[in-house]
Amino acid sequence: MSELKNPLEIYAALAKSNCGQCGVPSCMAFAASVLQGQKQLAACPYLDPAVVTQLGQRIVRRRSLEDDHQQAIQELRRQVALLDFSSLAPRLGARLVEGNLAINCLGKDFCITPSGEMISDCHLNHWIYVPLLYYVILCKGTEPQGEWVPYATLPGAAEWSQYFSHRCEEPLRHLADAHCSLIFEMFHLFGAQPVVLSGGADHSLQILPLPKVPFLINYWEPEEGFASKLNILLDRSAAENINAQSINLLARGIIEMFRQLILRHSRDGKLF
Ligand code: SF4
Repeated sequence: MSELKNPLEIYAALAKSNCGQCGVPSCMAFAASVLQGQKQLAACPYLDPAVVTQLGQRIVRRRSLEDDHQQAIQELRRQVALLDFSSLAPRLGARLVEGNLAINCLGKDFCITPSGEMISDCHLNHWIYVPLLYYVILCKGTEPQGEWVPYATLPGAAEWSQYFSHRCEEPLRHLADAHCSLIFEMFHLFGAQPVVLSGGADHSLQILPLPKVPFLINYWEPEEGFASKLNILLDRSAAENINAQSINLLARGIIEMFRQLILRHSRDGKLF
């Protein structure tokens, strides 16, 4: 039986309705995700089980991004399991609840168990799981100083800074351009506090993705002839409490969460 290498072979068997029930927006994206190991064929409810079996036998499972995330999480959990939560909680700005660390993230509690598992009412993904575990392991408890600096100036940020700009700041700017009031209402619902800075932006808000890692979001609305601007600044102390990679993941997770909320709550159910 020949190995299936081309997503078009999977696409050919799909309903091609782009209905999105599989969790990706189109049948072509689904076919590519299956081949990359990010989706299972059975996630499409319209595929005949016999076809799922027949195609499935020809797909060689390769290591996916999800595998890498799971491996990273397992390693971080192993390190967390060695820590003493009772002495750690005050340093993290966390509470000890029935032996678990309760860490507040944008107003919601995320509990880390002594074995490094995470429990929350919120949807859990690697954008929150990895940074929280790193926070538990790395946080020195340094209090934020109110000295805001660009992400790129933090130690270890060089390899992530382009990603931070293209995958976090730019997408958030586009969302703010299209849904200005909704975005800032949502920020307030997540506990954002307005910040007044001299020569500041039209909107400057401080949010707390982690108790000792505040973000400052500055947004300048578009004006005639000038595009909008948005930046996300970090407290200079951030590098004492977490690594640059985790800040990147947290920011990305927040943008994704906002995308989902806008899809659900905007008047027309559209992002743009
Ligand atoms: S559920 Fe099936 S038909 Fe719908 S978009 Fe996904 S792959 Fe296509």
